[in-house]
Amino acid sequence: MDLSPSPLAFEMRKKVEHFFETEILPRDPEWRREVHENGNPWPDFLSELRAKAKSQGLWNLGLPMLDDSDPGTRLNNLEYTYVADVMGRLGWSSFVFNCQPPDVPNAEILQQFGSPEQKERWLVPLLNGEFRSTFAMTEPAVASSDANNIETTIESDGDHYVINGRKWWTSNASHPLCKFAILVGLSDPEAERGRGHTMVLIPTDTPGFIVERTLSVFGAKDITTPHDQVLFDNVRIPKTNLLGTEGGGFLIGQARLGPARIQHCMRMIGHGEVMVRLMLERARDRVAFGKPLQSYSTVQEWIAESRLELEQCKLMLQKTAWLVDNFDNKAARREISMIKLAVPRAYSNIADRAVQVFGGMAVSDDSPFASAVASARVMRIADGPDEVHLRTLFKLEQFAAKDEPALSPSYLRGPGNSFLE
Ligand SMILES: Cc1cc2nc3c(=O)[nH]c(=O)nc-3n(C[C@H](O)[C@H](O)[C@H](O)COP(=O)(O)OP(=O)(O)OC[C@H]3O[C@@H](n4cnc5c(N)ncnc54)[C@H](O)[C@@H]3O)c2cc1C
Repeated sequence: MDLSPSPLAFEMRKKVEHFFETEILPRDPEWRREVHENGNPWPDFLSELRAKAKSQGLWNLGLPMLDDSDPGTRLNNLEYTYVADVMGRLGWSSFVFNCQPPDVPNAEILQQFGSPEQKERWLVPLLNGEFRSTFAMTEPAVASSDANNIETTIESDGDHYVINGRKWWTSNASHPLCKFAILVGLSDPEAERGRGHTMVLIPTDTPGFIVERTLSVFGAKDITTPHDQVLFDNVRIPKTNLLGTEGGGFLIGQARLGPARIQHCMRMIGHGEVMVRLMLERARDRVAFGKPLQSYSTVQEWIAESRLELEQCKLMLQKTAWLVDNFDNKAARREISMIKLAVPRAYSNIADRAVQVFGGMAVSDDSPFASAVASARVMRIADGPDEVHLRTLFKLEQFAAKDEPALSPSYLRGPGNSFLE
């Protein structure tokens, strides 16, 4: 297993880092003003930056199945880890490279399961960065971490489907550029478990697609990726909007989540790196009780523990990416669950330590730490709560051991219990 950067990954990291330092970072004050103060979900200068990044091939980097004819540069999952951490340094920078969720995982679905007509209508503009998309699975009425509970109905009516139900956390639905949703619904209530759900494509201007409200996350609204509650009220779509096969929705869902989790996690690691550097600088410069904070062993340990966790996570994540590249999502199932657990925990620990090092400033919006704490908390729920991943891990552990011979009794003996002989 070789986790070192390929020549392409090396080159792209240098280019992305340069673009980030020279084009993105200097515009951050403008971003804050436009987006956070004026509530603009898509500032004009973002479109300019995107056009520039695209013209340099710094585009669609998070799509290992990119065709040669598509815009951008194809990187595999491992190669992408070498640029995703740079994008993670500032929350909005992945937009510049068209690497933002949920558009990337939605594009992956279309690449794998879209018909030629669907690709032409939805995938091509998504890859060109002309519009955005949303993914509608979670429902307020049922425990949606168990996808079998999803109740929104997809009923057949001649050559159309009719969709009824309410979704929430439909991230991006009310964004002005969002043109379609990928929806998971129940098409056959009688089918065996895992076979009754289907995915369909729904244009957001279809009558009956109603955004009811935008939810806040720990008190704040996400302006660039609003988290919405959407009512699907007798939404009629042609059957040509079916993705894959009827009843094949979960199969598609599994294909979607592996790379998406790797990408989320690598961005978190990139931001974890930023927080460690900020802690170091603060601990060097801030003086309390006559000494810089860095001379206190607690602060030293917080920074050292953070490095330890980041390195462990980075390696685990790159191993996961390598497994997906060289085998598939299924072969990396255990690792995907492990990174989904380990990275948000590490990120949360680092954000929490940074809050302590920075004191009062850290809990306000004057610093990035308050929103880091909130994102870390969210990541323990979104894309599957911790408990579901722990359950998967336990089952895989149990499965791996099931055909193994029982361990020798020697392993259970301490040095002094020879009476068992
Ligand atoms: C910011 C944000 C963005 C999101 N974006 C999207 C999106 O774009 N599209 C979308 O469809 N969804 C999205 N989600 C929804 C997210 O994926 C769900 O919230 C998540 O899957 C959990 O489902 P639930 O909220 O219904 O919780 P529930 O299923 O009700 O689970 C609640 C709790 O029950 C416990 N639990 C559940 N199963 C088990 C188990 N097997 N063992 C032990 N305990 C268990 C866990 O503690 C869990 O946290 C987003 C969520 C957030 C917060």
